Amino acid sequence: MSRIILADLKGRGGYVNKDTVAGGYGSRFSGHSFVTRFEKNVRRVLQNLPSIHIGYLASIFANAGHEVVVTRSDALVDGDLAIVLTSLVDYRHEREWAAAARKRGTKVGFVGTPATHLPELFQMFGDFIISGEPEAAAIRIAHGEDPNGFVSSAAIEELDSLAFPRWDLVKPRGFGYTNRKTFGLTRALPMLTSRSCPEKCTYCPHRITAKFRARSDENVLEELAELCSHYDRLHVVIRDPLYTLDRERCLRISEGIQRRGLKLTYECETRMDDLDEELIRAMHASGLRAINFGVESPDPLVLRRVARRFIPYEHMRRMINLCWKLGITTTAFYVIGFLQDTEESIEELIRFAVDLDSTFANFKILTPYPGTPQFKQLQPLINDDDWQHFDGYTLNFRHPALTPRRARLMLGMCYSRFFLRPSNILNFAGMHRYAHLPWLKKIDEWSWRWQEHFERPWLVERKVTTA
Ligand code: SF4
Repeated sequence: MSRIILADLKGRGGYVNKDTVAGGYGSRFSGHSFVTRFEKNVRRVLQNLPSIHIGYLASIFANAGHEVVVTRSDALVDGDLAIVLTSLVDYRHEREWAAAARKRGTKVGFVGTPATHLPELFQMFGDFIISGEPEAAAIRIAHGEDPNGFVSSAAIEELDSLAFPRWDLVKPRGFGYTNRKTFGLTRALPMLTSRSCPEKCTYCPHRITAKFRARSDENVLEELAELCSHYDRLHVVIRDPLYTLDRERCLRISEGIQRRGLKLTYECETRMDDLDEELIRAMHASGLRAINFGVESPDPLVLRRVARRFIPYEHMRRMINLCWKLGITTTAFYVIGFLQDTEESIEELIRFAVDLDSTFANFKILTPYPGTPQFKQLQPLINDDDWQHFDGYTLNFRHPALTPRRARLMLGMCYSRFFLRPSNILNFAGMHRYAHLPWLKKIDEWSWRWQEHFERPWLVERKVTTA
């Protein structure tokens, strides 16, 4: 029996999210304005999930009879073998920890998307690098393989064969989710019911490590039942990039949750065209309380250039309206900084986001992630040599219309205009039905003009001069 250390280090600077975020590259939300700083602190409290891959690795090593210690702290822990979860946004910190652990005589390896696609960043700082989804290699190591150098780890085809993550070893303390109706804090745990994505969006890092596979509905229900037996108030965050791809499987899971009487709430991420009224109602009846979905850009031409299938606006509006009626929170994801974007088109995007009327919106700056087709396309334009800046909120390439500073300002504007519009106060007060009154929209318009004085004073000056 060996002592295995699994290190999922707490990221430095800003709100750092690793694991399944940005396909495993992670993101860092620093907060550079009043609204984004507020948003950063909200995320710190409400989205602080444990790492699902660390949960799986803990399970594999513990089931093979090893002692497993999971750490998030910088303090070194004695052990025979340490595995460090890597991210792009905090890789120097992860390398430092690994090098220090190695000095103490611990054999150290790296796992994760950056270790797989940018092994050169890590190879001098550890003894081995696991390339690919880590479970297959972890099973071999747990049963006696001595890892060295480059350790290939093929994606497991039959996901049902994996033992469930061991949250009792990860000990997720202080993670919570606020249910908007009861304002009750609930234990939130992540789950993967499928991996990767069969869509072909060229900028997306979710699909570059392995092909799409899904677990059976029975296997998912078994895991949910096990979680419910451990936690009284449970909120499951389904981290699949495209949960509702197989509609029938989702219906069977929803029906199974009710049949088994599982007391839980959950949220998922998906594409809006993989949703319909019957499916949303069925999922809501089984505990669905939030849906996160990508819009990216309202411009069909921009979407076509990045191979993202367009979703009709009307369909998205209908689904969001239904969610408002049922009390399901919706979060729409948007990306600014596509090559065709200008400050004017970003303003259009903000108006579209407000008009689409999701509960929340998450805005990011286009990031060329290594391993994606988009990275190859933008490589000649990349002018940032610090990988830690590839955090989802920094412009890392020469853009025809935006500088990094302007992109950052526009990002701040997206958040402040979306969240600080007066009609939004009614949404948060549970009075969404009044939020579309014409006079309230006029106040929104007025507040936007007022905000512009702070956000883009040069533009206000230009407008005054032109007038
Ligand atoms: S649909 Fe979403 S997860 Fe799938 S490839 Fe496109 S952006 Fe990635």
